[in-house]
Amino acid sequence: KIKVENLVKKFDYREVLKNVSFEIYEGEIFVIIGGSGSGKSTVLKHIIGLLKPTSGKIYINSVDITSLKDIELIEFRKKIGYLFQEGALFDSLKVWENVGFYFLENTKMSEEEIRNIAKSKLALVGLNGIEDLYPSQLSGGMRKRVSLARAIAYNPEIILYDEPTSGLDPVTSAMIDNLIVDLRNNLNITSVVVTHDLESAFSIADRIAFIHKGVIYAIGTPEEIKNSKDPVVQQFINRRA
Ligand code: ATP
Ligand code: MG
Repeated sequence: KIKVENLVKKFDYREVLKNVSFEIYEGEIFVIIGGSGSGKSTVLKHIIGLLKPTSGKIYINSVDITSLKDIELIEFRKKIGYLFQEGALFDSLKVWENVGFYFLENTKMSEEEIRNIAKSKLALVGLNGIEDLYPSQLSGGMRKRVSLARAIAYNPEIILYDEPTSGLDPVTSAMIDNLIVDLRNNLNITSVVVTHDLESAFSIADRIAFIHKGVIYAIGTPEEIKNSKDPVVQQFINRRA
């Protein structure tokens, strides 16, 4: 479903991704773990076409997105929901306008129709009756969930989550993890999750890729990653021990 082939990315002369290859299957929860600056967000930005590779290919449903024209790419992105690392809600817009932002900007749908879509997506993430609040009136966990409601507003086939649980307390983190799993189970959404949170990675992943300094060191089930003999992988997993 998603295939990344020999992805290389240089910023100026610095090679940030070095021949990264992996495949993500339909309906899978694929988690990318690695330390700060290892290249995780850069991988996600390539999958949604926000960055162009220096070399290498990215196929989504067999379409090579690295060769799409901008206008085709914009159309293609509707298949993909993206939960930004920084949440990125518009502070001056109400919750329902944030969730329905795409429809407000790009369609002639009525306010009532858009509100209804927003309401149903907010219900899916367990938020009811907050449509008319502003982001500043919400807790961090609620803001993450509003961002998630926005990411699923267009019924994407794929969701890319960049650090969905960072900065949240353990209870709220577990709630977000459950939502990621529920969305996959109920809607069969292919999910790519980037995180430093090992506990969360091991609990939700079907498969995990470990990236370090732009190189993938291991890909496998949580069990396989835990039992990896690679010293770099072991050091990361046991860093708190
Ligand atoms: P974190 O866990 O801190 O979010 P990350 O694994 O997501 O880290 P990336 O954001 O992918 O890391 O960055 C990987 C490397 O690429 C870093 O060294 C970063 O400084 C560099 N980098 C990322 N974006 C750019 C850019 N637009 N221009 C130049 N360098 C960049
Ligand atoms: Mg990042």
